[in-house]
Amino acid sequence: IKQDNVRNFSIIAHIDHGKSTLADRILERTKALTQREMKEQFLDAMDLERERGITIKLNAVQLRYGAANGEDYLFHLIDTPGHVDFTYEVSRSLAACDGVLLVVDAAQGIEAQTLANLYLALDNDLEIIPVINKIDLPAADPERVTKELEDLLGVTKDEVIHASGKSGIGIDDILEAIVERVPAPEGEPEDPLKALIFDSLYDPYRGVIASISIKEGTVRVGQRIRMMQTEKEFEVTEIGVFNPKPTPKDSLTVGDVGYLTASIKNVSDSRVGDTITSAERPASEPLPGYKKMNPMVFCGIFPVDASNYNDLREALERLELNDSSLQYEAETSQALGFGFRCGFLGLLHMEIIQERIEREFGIDLITTAPSVIYEVELTDGETITVDNPSMMPDTQSVSEVREPFVKATIMVPNDYVGSVMEICQAKRGAFQDMQYLDDNRVNITYEIPLSEIVYDFFDQLKSQTKGYASFDYDLVGYRASNLVKMDILLNNDTIDALSFIVHRDFAYERGKAIANKLKDLIPRQQFEVPVQAAIGNKIVARSTIKAMRKNVLSKCYGGDISRKRKLLEKQKEGKKRMKMVGSVEVPQEAFMAVLEMD
Ligand code: GDP
Ligand code: MG
Repeated sequence: IKQDNVRNFSIIAHIDHGKSTLADRILERTKALTQREMKEQFLDAMDLERERGITIKLNAVQLRYGAANGEDYLFHLIDTPGHVDFTYEVSRSLAACDGVLLVVDAAQGIEAQTLANLYLALDNDLEIIPVINKIDLPAADPERVTKELEDLLGVTKDEVIHASGKSGIGIDDILEAIVERVPAPEGEPEDPLKALIFDSLYDPYRGVIASISIKEGTVRVGQRIRMMQTEKEFEVTEIGVFNPKPTPKDSLTVGDVGYLTASIKNVSDSRVGDTITSAERPASEPLPGYKKMNPMVFCGIFPVDASNYNDLREALERLELNDSSLQYEAETSQALGFGFRCGFLGLLHMEIIQERIEREFGIDLITTAPSVIYEVELTDGETITVDNPSMMPDTQSVSEVREPFVKATIMVPNDYVGSVMEICQAKRGAFQDMQYLDDNRVNITYEIPLSEIVYDFFDQLKSQTKGYASFDYDLVGYRASNLVKMDILLNNDTIDALSFIVHRDFAYERGKAIANKLKDLIPRQQFEVPVQAAIGNKIVARSTIKAMRKNVLSKCYGGDISRKRKLLEKQKEGKKRMKMVGSVEVPQEAFMAVLEMD
């Protein structure tokens, strides 16, 4: 198939607007999968993704389509990850395309992620095909959504496709629109090689498997290649396409989207966004836009059972191979023992990694509350960075603490503007702008400290707006804030893993709230346990966990042995996530308590 008949595209949408379902319909219609092979949501490969309904790993599928004009076309459908934490990866995967389907739910209309993704597509100069999905829903209002799209994109209503991934309406219109409107890839097969790496995955047998989009030139098996960013060189061992199974080829040329292996032992040697060129005849310049992603959120991860420490290290090593934005280093906590301080792109990234460690490696974890990175200027003039609250120096030796701020964009129906502003204000937000998108919907922007976003902002937003608000954020920089470290004492011992950083104006209130919360979360022990919140030497709040009255076993005093064993087992189950901290047994929830304060 000639280059003129190649179409590279992607589907972008707000979460739940039906991207995966539409992708399945397209795969089905182009017969990429037989009915038997057809698993729902084929592109969301990992179980975890499927359960959470999110897409983390990028994927590209090659499809053949016989168009109405009688010609055969070669499509590459490139899947993008769907969450703010993965914005950079979305941008790279879009750079592999020439056009996008912008999918909008017919009942929900345009939402924050619709816009965020649209801007990324516009940054990459892509052709945009607007699709209103779920028109089968009783609550669908395609006229209103068409109007929104007309205003946003400057298109006419004939250009907006009405579809339903569920019932199959509009799928043919979409396929024809891809043929008609998405431009064929440009570039010369004979020019020096430029291949964009838009995903990178580690396989224990073959090394790194890079997903690539060929922008210039041709790549062949056996060829010597160079990564333009890292300047590392390798010899190509295999190249191929996914159709949708991996299918080896001798060469890939301009317009092709597929995979490449070259005995690369480390994902950091083939970074997403880097350009692959030929070592013999290198291109003079890489493709635009390589950017290294830095973690924004940190937390401590400790095994519940100290003997799992090495397993945990191995789990992190394995996960890092597939995820170069995951960072970790050994950490020792007086309270929790040996573990790791880990850095993540955002909260979702953090949750996913924790869940994978527990699920795929079978290690029970205690995780500490997430923290951002603080810049701390000391009185002696030195500036240090602190990503672990327990490492915050004493107030006397600190002259200024700066924290990261984000620009938060929140989209809500009119009725909730008041509630949203209240939440933002309570989270130390500074109002920036408010824009009416139409008669009913408003876009509100605030600058808010990232640490406040980390502390249950999203949950509050969702509950106060009955789930209607959608939200996105971008880092804007570091600002000075009046912050102090709050220590927590259990039974008169400071528990380092419970320390947190708080704005001085909220310190008293938060100290009180957390002392009360811990009193409820930590089960009664054999003795009375005082809980105290302190700033420096000053106790700002206290509560008491009363001593336990009854032993579990006393209930079956004299009872039969099997009942006794059952009770003990039950108790053990309940203890799974408990950790002895000094003389006190503390459950996992206690380390997260600070996240659930108002
Ligand atoms: P994604 O998050 O954008 O990938 O969305 P999914 O494809 O996972 O779909 C989200 C939900 O919407 C799922 O429960 C789908 O079954 C449902 N859904 C998707 N497309 C349609 C549609 O055209 N009509 C209706 N009624 N539901 C749909
Ligand atoms: Mg999906």
